Amino acid sequence: MPDSSPGVVLVSGGSRGIGRATVLRFARQGAQVAFCYRSNKTAAADLEKEAAELGGRAVATEVDVTDADAVRGWVAETEARVGPLGTVVTSAGIVRDGPLLRMPDEDWHQVVDVNLSGMYNVCRSVIFPMMKRKSGSLVNISSVSGVFGNPTQCNYSAAKSGIIGFTRALAKEVGKYGIRANVVAPGLIETDMTADLSGKRRQEALSAIPLGRFGSSEEVADAVVYLAGASYITGSVLQVDGGIVI
Ligand code: NAD
Repeated sequence: MPDSSPGVVLVSGGSRGIGRATVLRFARQGAQVAFCYRSNKTAAADLEKEAAELGGRAVATEVDVTDADAVRGWVAETEARVGPLGTVVTSAGIVRDGPLLRMPDEDWHQVVDVNLSGMYNVCRSVIFPMMKRKSGSLVNISSVSGVFGNPTQCNYSAAKSGIIGFTRALAKEVGKYGIRANVVAPGLIETDMTADLSGKRRQEALSAIPLGRFGSSEEVADAVVYLAGASYITGSVLQVDGGIVI
């Protein structure tokens, strides 16, 4: 049976929300985790401390995932300083919601750049070293919006659907190298991303969730860690959504 320990873990968008919970979940297992953040140095430093208190080690680097050179540099430096990557989680993401009719071109491009091209930049940078080692596990964070589509989210649904297509294609490409690639598709999760959902929209969303509540970042991180170590699962999309039907 292949080894299902995570090895060195790389997390994009690790300083907040689902990425942060994922860093802490791996740290609790004693793993070494490298994570990137976009701008909040203080939050990143706090997370490094919290991970150390849990018995792991987390190393923060400021990297914009849309900058392919910066991502390549971050991956190379992590492999040189921390060790060969065993697990990679792409969680960096943004939303810029609005009906297509009124969507500024910039909101389309930004959402696709961060969510889809950002994920591509990370996976593209780690794949060759993993192929050489004949092992590795990738977990990309999509969304139920990418599975079902969501009004006012043409940009986000397209990017998150793209993550699913990319991951399935990659799983077929690299399975023979002992590398697995899976997707976690969260529903509505209590993070900064959903914090400004107004009262009426929040009530409408809640009424569509059979479990009657938003999920927590920790509940998504549990699924990420599960898929990361699930040695006979590849190309799958695991919804963590309280049963939401859109
Ligand atoms: P969040 O806003 O709390 O965190 C997003 C993280 O991404 C932050 O750490 C931020 O710094 C980072 N980030 C954004 N742009 C970046 C860039 N250009 N370069 C590097 N890092 C960048 O959001 P979250 O809810 O934790 O979202 C995490 C992932 O889960 C995202 O991909 C999001 O699309 C997805 N998701 C979230 C929900 C939800 O309800 N919260 C639902 C489905 C999917």
